[in-house]
Amino acid sequence: MSFADLGLMPELLKAVTDAGYAEPTPIQAQAIPIILAGKDVMGGAQTGTGKTAGFTLPLLQRLSRHANTSPSPARHPVRALILTPTRELAMQVHESVVTYSKHLALRSVVIYGGVDMRAQMEQLRLGREIVVATPGRLLDHVEQKTVNFGAVEVLVLDEADRMLDMGFIPDVKRILALLPKERQSLLFSATFSEEIKRLADSMLRNPQLIEVARRNAAADNITHRVHPVAQDLKRQVLAHLIKTQDLGQVLVFVATKFGASRLAHYLGRMGISADAIHGDKSQQQRTEALEAFKAGRVSVLVATDVAARGLDVEDLPQVINFELPHTPEDYIHRIGRTGRAGKSGTAVSLVCAEERGRLAEIEKLLKRPLEQVKLEGFEAGAEFKEPLERGKRGRTAAHGSTPPAPAPRGAKPGREPRRGPPPPAARAAPARPGATPDFDWRKPYEPAPDSFIEPPLPIPPRPGHKPRRQIAALLGGLPKKNE
Ligand code: AMP
Repeated sequence: MSFADLGLMPELLKAVTDAGYAEPTPIQAQAIPIILAGKDVMGGAQTGTGKTAGFTLPLLQRLSRHANTSPSPARHPVRALILTPTRELAMQVHESVVTYSKHLALRSVVIYGGVDMRAQMEQLRLGREIVVATPGRLLDHVEQKTVNFGAVEVLVLDEADRMLDMGFIPDVKRILALLPKERQSLLFSATFSEEIKRLADSMLRNPQLIEVARRNAAADNITHRVHPVAQDLKRQVLAHLIKTQDLGQVLVFVATKFGASRLAHYLGRMGISADAIHGDKSQQQRTEALEAFKAGRVSVLVATDVAARGLDVEDLPQVINFELPHTPEDYIHRIGRTGRAGKSGTAVSLVCAEERGRLAEIEKLLKRPLEQVKLEGFEAGAEFKEPLERGKRGRTAAHGSTPPAPAPRGAKPGREPRRGPPPPAARAAPARPGATPDFDWRKPYEPAPDSFIEPPLPIPPRPGHKPRRQIAALLGGLPKKNE
C-alpha cells in the first residue's frame, strides 16, 4: 500500500516523500481514508505509531480548499485545533504540521504556556488556519480574546489519556464548549478508561473506531534486556554500558527529578555528555536539552516519565530504565521511544532485587519473560533469585519495597497524575464489533482481563474544584514523590 493509494493530494504526497516515508504505517492506512471522508474518529494509538501524520495529512487535505496566500488575517481564520497535553508534544505535532503542509498555503501556530504570550498573540492576529495548543495557554488566549474559534472545522484531541492524567479534562471541556457544533472531531488515546469513553461520547458523533495492534504485541522490533544489578552499583553499570557499548544516543529513565539531575551530573563526571529533562526545568532548558540531544551534542538524556511524554527523537536505538516504572503501562510508554516506525531498538532495564515485583508486572503485561543478562562484576545479590513473596507480584504490590507515591506537594486530587491502573469499570469492556476477539478497546495495551489483579480505586476528582492548570502546565504534569 502506498500513500497515493490512500487518496492523498499531490502536495501531501510530495511532503511525505520529502520526509522519506516509503509507505503508510498501519494507523495511517486506517485513519487517512476515514478522516478524508469527514468522519469522526476514536483512535487507540500512542506516540511512535505514526499517528501524527495519520491525522495531520488528511486534516491538511480537508483544509486545502481554504489555502490562500492573501496577507489579510480575515482570510486565515482558525480552521483546525489540535490539543495536546504537553508542550513538548505540542511542539512536535506542530513540527509535523509544518513538515506536511510545506507545499500548501496554510498557516499554523503552536501555543503553549511557560513563554511570553505576545509572540503567540501576534501570530494569531495575523491569522493561522491550524492551531496546535496545550489547553491551559489556549484558554489564556480565549480570556484575552486573542483567538476565535468561530470557523473551526476540525478538532483533534491527542493523547486524551494523558490529558486526563494531568487534570486537563475540565479545560478541554471548556474549549469544546466554545467550538462550533458542526465540526469533525478526532480523539486519540493509548488507553480507554470509562472517563475517556464518556469524553469521547460527548465530543464525537458516530465515530469510526481505529484499531492498531496493541503496543506490547506490535513492538516485536524491540529487544528487551534485563540486567540484574545491585542497587548501589547501578550508576557504575550505566556508565559502563554507555562507554563500552558505544550506544550513541541513549534516553535514560529515572523515577525522580532529583535523581535525574544527580545522575546526569554523575555521568558528566564520568566523561559522558549528559543532560537531564524534568518538570523543574524551565521550558527553555527543556527545549535546549532536547535540541542538544536530537542534534547529537549530548549523548545521554536522563528523563522522568512525565518530562519524556511525547518526546520523539528519530532513530533512538536504545532506552535504558535506570529504575523500573511503578506501573507496567509506563514501561510500554518508555520503550515506545525506541523501535519507532518499524526500526529496531533495545530496551535495557537495570533491575535490583527490590524491583522484582515491578518486573513481574511488566512481564505479565508483555506476556513473556524478559531476557536476563548478568553483568560480570555488577551482579545483584542472591536475594534476586529468591522467590517473590505472595502478594508482591500483583499490581497492589507493584512498588516493591517502595511505598506508594503520596499525592504531590499541594496537589489537588483532580490534578493528580494517575499512578495506578484505571478504575475496574474500565476493564469490563464488551467485545466491539470489528475488533479482534480478545481486543479490549478501552485498554489497547492491556493483557486479557482475567489476568488482572484488582487495583486500588483512584481518588475521585473534587467536585467544583478549579483546576490548577498554570502549575500543571509549568511542570509539564505534576510531580511524583520527590520529583
Ligand atoms: P508519531 O507516532 O506520530 O509520533 O510518529 C513517530 C515517528 O514516525 C516520527 O518520527 C515520524 O516522523 C515517523 N513516521 C511517521 N509516519 C511514518 C512513515 N509512514 N514511515 C516512516 N516513518 C514515519
